[in-house]
Amino acid sequence: MPAKPRVAFFDFAGCEGDQLQVANLEERLLDIVSHIEVVRFREIKTIKLDDYDIAFVEGSITRPEDEPRIKEIREKAQVLVALGACASIGGINCLKNFINENEYMATVYGDKGRWYSTYAARPLSAVVKVDMEIHGCPIDKNEFARAVKELLLGKIYRPPDYPVCVECKMAGNICRYEQGKLCLGIVTRAGCGACCVTEGSVCWGCRGLLPEANMDAAGQIMNEHGFSWLEAQDHLRLYFGYNGRL
Ligand code: SF4
Ligand code: SF4
Ligand code: SF4
Repeated sequence: MPAKPRVAFFDFAGCEGDQLQVANLEERLLDIVSHIEVVRFREIKTIKLDDYDIAFVEGSITRPEDEPRIKEIREKAQVLVALGACASIGGINCLKNFINENEYMATVYGDKGRWYSTYAARPLSAVVKVDMEIHGCPIDKNEFARAVKELLLGKIYRPPDYPVCVECKMAGNICRYEQGKLCLGIVTRAGCGACCVTEGSVCWGCRGLLPEANMDAAGQIMNEHGFSWLEAQDHLRLYFGYNGRL
């Protein structure tokens, strides 16, 4: 890796919210940019070069023609980073995997559905090797800055391997189960500070399933609090849809 690595941003199926988070770093972005050379970043510059060392890739793979493109990016990049839930775990794009293809194509494109190709949505790692993942929907810009710093030091950033509940307890929140609500913090990878719970909502699982998530125990907790499997499944599929255990 050169002293000042060349960095490129790419997007597949997604809303570009993660790239926006990077652009939102503002003054800190200027500091980061002094240590890297940004050769492609559609949201902030028009120049597009094809030589890069690090590729940050946002969005899911949702069409057969996405595969050669992500494989080419993989071939060129020394380090490939999946940026956000769509890229790292498949995310909300995978909701379509539970619906009949004709139905969702007609809903989105009406009678023009046959003009477009599609297939089951999947994370980048289903097609190419991914070196590093930055989770969330959208990503946390401070975590992005930390991850880039690690990369510049020649390290690979690894997110926390404990559940959101740990951060939730540290934040002093009342558990949503005690308030009769379903929350996925029990099986979701931490790192966001349980921000959604702290702000009054529940955890929807956007940072992905913990690698060692005990789904049987989670199901038992949901069941004990009066939630049916269908209610639990509705929540689980929002972000964990690519996971085969649903
Ligand atoms: S992970 Fe969320 S913010 Fe990022 S592209 Fe997907 S929908 Fe948008
Ligand atoms: S509210 Fe959710 S994240 Fe917080 S402790 Fe309860 S289950 Fe865990
Ligand atoms: S609390 Fe859950 S849904 Fe909210 S940011 Fe954290 S992981 Fe994502």
